Formats: sequence, C-alpha cells, structure tokens
Amino acid sequence: MEYLSIKLATMDKRDKELKKIKDEVLKCRKCNLYKKRKYPVIGEGNHKAKIILIGEAPGATENLTGHPFCGAAGKILDELFSLIGRERKDVFVCNILKCQPPGNRNPRKQEIESCAPFLLRQIEVIKPRVICTLGNFSTTFIFRQYGLEDKIKGISHLHGKIFEAEKTTIIPFYHPAVATYNANMKKILIKDFQILKNF
Ligand code: URA
Repeated sequence: MEYLSIKLATMDKRDKELKKIKDEVLKCRKCNLYKKRKYPVIGEGNHKAKIILIGEAPGATENLTGHPFCGAAGKILDELFSLIGRERKDVFVCNILKCQPPGNRNPRKQEIESCAPFLLRQIEVIKPRVICTLGNFSTTFIFRQYGLEDKIKGISHLHGKIFEAEKTTIIPFYHPAVATYNANMKKILIKDFQILKNF
C-alpha cells in the first residue's frame, strides 16, 4: 500500500493519464474481443516519446504476454531499431486494437470504432512529433484522423514517404510481419527505417 502511494506520487501528469487509459482498457468490454483475451495489449515505451509506432492488433504471443510486438514481427522491429542505432525504449509502441482478433483476422469496423478512442487518447497524452504507421490498417486509420483522406492508397504506394499534418509527421511503413516471410520486404523496411535517423 505504501509502495503504491509512493509510486503514484512520483508519477507525472502524463503517466497518470496513461495509467487511467490502461485501467479503462483492462475493464473494457465494448466489443466481443475481450471474451477470448488473456491480456489486452495496451502499448508500452517512453511516455515522452517523440516517435510513436502504431501496428494493427496483438497477435497470439502479444495476447499471452500483454506486450506489443513481442513475437516474430517484434523481433524484426527490434532489428530495425538496432540497425538505426535506436532502442525500442526510446519510442512508444501500440496498436489500433488492444485485443487479439480470432485467428489474427482483419480488425472489423465496429472493433476499430470501439477501441481506437483509447489510441487517440494515448496520442493526445504523449503528443509525439512523429507517427509511424505499420501496415495498411493503421495507415488508413491515421490518415483519416489527420485529414489526409485524399492521400490514402495501399501501403505499397505510401511506405517510406513523409506526410505532414496537424504539426505531426506521419510516416507509413510496411508492417514488420511481412518481413518474417519475405526477405525483399525486409530490405525495403531496412531502407525505409533509415528515415527515422533524422528524427
Ligand atoms: N502485429 C501487430 O500489428 N501488433 C502487434 O503487437 C503484434 C503483431
């Protein structure tokens, strides 16, 4: 109990707001995905990060641990960071959906509508300078949110390009999962990731 009050006292406003979001996600039952979850994957990293990475939804390993990108796609992400001399702890990593869709199917409209407000609040609290979207789903979602509807195209057209909107730099990347089964995609991701050295 004493430990808890010391911990709360040393948290700054940002930490407290992110904790509030976390507590709400832990109790969330807005869509059916909560029924099969072991842990929601809320997002983690630096609460003062200048860069936030947004994936699609937790996979099986993430569901079992509650940590984002801790399976095969996460290994690729770690490799990409190490190649540009950065560490994951410098950024904040999260997803559009906090719970795993069955069989890793695509997120449904109603699930995105229920869950994405948590992500938008996390962005509002962290106030990143750069948003990196990983794959088609998060790119389309963020482009819509930031008034870039007219720029929405498939990720093969948008990856590695820089978009400016609402004082935020948005950079779409291929989803790291594609590199787990395609060596050429990994080369493209490595090349695209170099952009982050500038931020
Ligand atoms: N794929 C995602 O989009 N997010 C994760 O956290 C893991 C795999």
